[in-house]
Amino acid sequence: MASTHLERLSMGELLQFLRTAIRKRRAFGYPVGGWSSVISPLAAFLGEGIRLGCRVEKILVKEGKAVGIVTGGEEVKADYVIFAAPAFLLPSLLPLPKDYGKKLERIRPTAGVILDFGLGRRVSKIRDTIVTLEPPTLGWFTSNLEPSLVPPGRQLLTTFMPLELEELKEGARKALARLREVYLGIFPEIEKNILWERGFPTIVNGAELNIHQTRLDRPPVCTPIQNLFLVGDTTNAEGAGGEIAFNSALECVRQIEHTGGSACS
Ligand SMILES: Cc1cc2nc3c(=O)[nH]c(=O)nc-3n(C[C@H](O)[C@H](O)[C@H](O)COP(=O)(O)OP(=O)(O)OC[C@H]3O[C@@H](n4cnc5c(N)ncnc54)[C@H](O)[C@@H]3O)c2cc1C
Repeated sequence: MASTHLERLSMGELLQFLRTAIRKRRAFGYPVGGWSSVISPLAAFLGEGIRLGCRVEKILVKEGKAVGIVTGGEEVKADYVIFAAPAFLLPSLLPLPKDYGKKLERIRPTAGVILDFGLGRRVSKIRDTIVTLEPPTLGWFTSNLEPSLVPPGRQLLTTFMPLELEELKEGARKALARLREVYLGIFPEIEKNILWERGFPTIVNGAELNIHQTRLDRPPVCTPIQNLFLVGDTTNAEGAGGEIAFNSALECVRQIEHTGGSACS
């Protein structure tokens, strides 16, 4: 999602996105076996060194070099620190050069509400993205894309409505009610087959692709702190949304493998 406001939208970023989408000749894809088929092998590859459910409270810096992090009050030493959360959160974790820190803090994300349904019965065979314009929403029957996500005969539906960041706190409840109304209106069968539903406000893309946040403006993978890297959809890697995140991870690997991070200082 580039921007909910046309006057803020970067046409360059949009055209770049369209060029990639047209070249790929595919509207979208979904991992066979669900996201765990991507994440589980990665976790197995990383082995016991991986810790889940930890919040990084601080990034440790010694003589201008990142040397580790603090989580749960415990210091964890590291040769490299790769910050894979939205870049606007980085300034709260370590002292940064003033201009750089301010630039990161100004990054504007996109936002919206998500409403997921677990359904006891299959109510639609649609495999494409469902789009409504008034109000703007998106929907996917994710289990039609990947049946292994649900027990036989059941169905998953995930729906989304964009909101201005400023509306996220006050407007989420109303937006969720509207989103529910829209999808129950399109698919009346949903209502009597709901096993569970969950709705929540969320940040969607770390950086809105607006005229102030094009690739030229977003921060690079390298930071002013040696051995500290940024990865994720707020960086200046190519693409939109998740694609920026994947491309920035590849760029980060290139930097570490080929330069040991030294070119970044
Ligand atoms: C409904 C919806 C639909 C979307 N559809 C698409 C799509 O079709 N195509 C597409 O390309 N993109 C899509 N996106 C956007 C895509 O999900 C994001 O661009 C992508 O997940 C960004 O990945 P990331 O790794 O940069 O950040 P995230 O996935 O946001 O991961 C950052 C992680 O950092 C963690 N974190 C934050 N602070 C800390 C801390 N202090 N310590 C430890 N961890 C921390 C967060 O908990 C989070 O898990 C969609 C998003 C939503 C919500």
